[in-house]
Amino acid sequence: MQRLHARYPFLEAARDAVATEAVDLATVVEQDGAVVDRARERVVTAVEDGETGEPRREPRVELLSYPVARVLVSMIGERVLVRRYARAEAATAYERFAADFDDTTELKSVQSTDLDLETLLTEFDLTDAVQATADGYRVGVGTYLPLAEDQWGDEWRLVNRSLTDGDVPVTEDELRSLLREAVRGRIEDGLPFDVPDVIAASLEDEADEVREVLAELDLTREIDTVVPDLFPPCMKALLDDIQKGEHLPHHSRFAITAFLANIGMSTDEIVDLYRVNSTFGEDMTRYQTDHIRGDTSPTEYSTPSCATMQSYGDCVNKDDLCERIPHPMAYYEERIDDADDDDLEDWREGEGEGDDAEQSASGD
Ligand code: SF4
Repeated sequence: MQRLHARYPFLEAARDAVATEAVDLATVVEQDGAVVDRARERVVTAVEDGETGEPRREPRVELLSYPVARVLVSMIGERVLVRRYARAEAATAYERFAADFDDTTELKSVQSTDLDLETLLTEFDLTDAVQATADGYRVGVGTYLPLAEDQWGDEWRLVNRSLTDGDVPVTEDELRSLLREAVRGRIEDGLPFDVPDVIAASLEDEADEVREVLAELDLTREIDTVVPDLFPPCMKALLDDIQKGEHLPHHSRFAITAFLANIGMSTDEIVDLYRVNSTFGEDMTRYQTDHIRGDTSPTEYSTPSCATMQSYGDCVNKDDLCERIPHPMAYYEERIDDADDDDLEDWREGEGEGDDAEQSASGD
């Protein structure tokens, strides 16, 4: 059983096992270097690689390193760390349970480290909400929605699903993805928490290391990545209108231009992005962009908030994430943060290159 808990430390039973095993977490962090080292590795690898690193052979070390890793994450307390850490733990759990579910060897029945679908559904109180069908599963819509809201891709949106009697049909792979979200939610739940001083004092070195790793990654740099697919719906719509050559009222043009400037685009790049049709007003764009960026005015302007966008009628096509954020920049930041690094191809490294070359050639 200990091995199962070490593989899946987020299970309720694993939490109980920790309570039995570690009578006093303060003593563990003070005296058990192997546990602390594995905890540090869990968090550092989560930040750097989106995984939790190589599990230790000793189940006790592996199991106890999980609550200690949560302590470390809480000591730093940054939202971006909580999100990255929970995502990495959930990704590791997903890999493991997918392998367990696919493991059809005869030995399986005696392998206590394997987790089966039924156990995982029971763990998250999902047995009533998830029913097997001939070609997959049906998930009650009330269960589906919160688990699908952070999933990538339009196919997860309810409007693109065929609802049957209040249930959403999903494939087996999709059900696994929803379970990964359930795991992520549980791991994120309650983080960060207040760490007693006596525990924090023993983990200062490890916490400093995690802080350094976070600082080196310079997570704020990511917001400077230009990935139009991840733009908030309002900005996508405005950019679309500009590229179609439609005339936008001043407040709309201001909003999209300020947004693009705020995510780090230069005036030339914004001009390039707008320059898709012949009616494009380059001079006006240059003037307005320089002004917003503060190059020709005393102020650098910020992107309007969702409330302002709404009052001007510029808030359109709201999606689930929109319900949880107050600002288009927060929307974009969260989308960028959630995306796999592979999906983060900067527009400027793709389509923008030709235009850049043209511009340099023309001496612009
Ligand atoms: S809620 Fe905010 S981010 Fe979403 S579409 Fe409206 S203005 Fe844009």
